[in-house]
Amino acid sequence: MVNLKNLLNSLNTEADYISLRSVHHHSVSVGVRNEILEGVSSSEDNGLMIEVMIDGQIAYGATNSFELSEVKRCAEVARQSALMAKRFGLFPLTHQERPKVIGEYKSPASRGMDHFKPSEITDLLISLTGQMKIHDHIISRTANFSLIETHSHYVASNGSDVHQKIIRSTISLSATAASDKGTQRRTFGDEQSAQSGLERIDRAVLLKASQKIADEALALLEAPECPTETMDLLLAPDQMFLQIHESIGHPLELDRILGDERNYAGWSFVKPSDFGTLHYGSKLMNVTFDPTVVGQNASYFADDIGAIATREYLIKDGLLERGLGSLESQKRLNLPGVSSQRATSWNRPPIDRMANVNLEPGHSTMAEMLSTIERGVFMQTTRSWSIDDYRNKFQFGCEHAQLIENGKLTTIVKNPNYRGITAPFWNQLKMVGDKSTYQIGGLTNCGKGEPNQVIHVGHASPACLFSKIEVFGGGK
Ligand SMILES: [Zn+2]
Repeated sequence: MVNLKNLLNSLNTEADYISLRSVHHHSVSVGVRNEILEGVSSSEDNGLMIEVMIDGQIAYGATNSFELSEVKRCAEVARQSALMAKRFGLFPLTHQERPKVIGEYKSPASRGMDHFKPSEITDLLISLTGQMKIHDHIISRTANFSLIETHSHYVASNGSDVHQKIIRSTISLSATAASDKGTQRRTFGDEQSAQSGLERIDRAVLLKASQKIADEALALLEAPECPTETMDLLLAPDQMFLQIHESIGHPLELDRILGDERNYAGWSFVKPSDFGTLHYGSKLMNVTFDPTVVGQNASYFADDIGAIATREYLIKDGLLERGLGSLESQKRLNLPGVSSQRATSWNRPPIDRMANVNLEPGHSTMAEMLSTIERGVFMQTTRSWSIDDYRNKFQFGCEHAQLIENGKLTTIVKNPNYRGITAPFWNQLKMVGDKSTYQIGGLTNCGKGEPNQVIHVGHASPACLFSKIEVFGGGK
């Protein structure tokens, strides 16, 4: 094991600030389809990012070697880049954007990679797909597992020293039913993405979930099409996750608002003047940025430039208060932000990301929400989504829906979709479920940045009721 502090002290690079961030990733995954093992894979990589600041200009170098001569060479590359970029610098950064931080973090996981046995997981996944084999129409049954351990160490010339060990695991299931009436797919898994190890695997819960998604995929084949009309819309947490992600998380990223991501990931309808003034949603809407939730997918002690993670309201009682922006973006926009400058690995610079972005629970039970609905629809689990570059106009498709008539769940309908415009949609938030409807989960595939950085985020939400939403059927 290389002593990163000694390495830093040996560099002698002329810079106002220099940091080293080592990242060691180890991941394993197992995939099963129709009771047949499709593959077990394992990957491991290890490297180092060097960051320098000269006259307010930041630049990077990265290497997968920890040899002093190579690290010195990379530090010099970063130094020369900073000197060259200085001529075109848009905004000078200061030591304030690189605070001194000392601390450590470890995911609350008791059974990590050391306990991973491919045969045990394979047997479990085979039994899960077997459980879905309830009819000849269930043509595809998949079960996948992944376990990822990431150990990062950050040291800087300002005395910063942070160790973080993140252990994450995910199990995802899918059942696809097909007949002359079409194809329907049910999945399970976003709520299974968490900072935990093998100890979280609950065979009984997973067997029940496999059976349920197979039953539902089959039932959807026979179901009538979702009606096209404006009605009340009740969304389950596993659809709320992506609704929050796309129409709250992304538009509130300060680097998007600055235009940094305009060329690739997109821009935002949110303007700097909207913070503190825009009624993003109804008074029932409370959204937090919270990397302190124990065991949620994107919890940590500090982000990748040393800003300590704290829980902050992004939206409070419907009012937009704060963006998802790092200390750098906060300085550039003169707006409050969060500790969200994250990199996917040692060979990527940290940029503004979501961590855990959660809709806080309200006070309504599921029964209370249902009882207020004369005519509506209850939708579960994201199937498809589309949202414009400004994260404003959107359309989501869900896997499963059930009509609500006179306060009761009635007919199951297939191919449900809804559309809206971000702020008007959230202003139609009529009731927010209580803790009994609340689920904590996450997504593993948020893409952004050039070169691309695919990162994991966390989302949590209760079930939520929106009034007068455009609902429609159709689509595959
Ligand atoms: Zn995303």
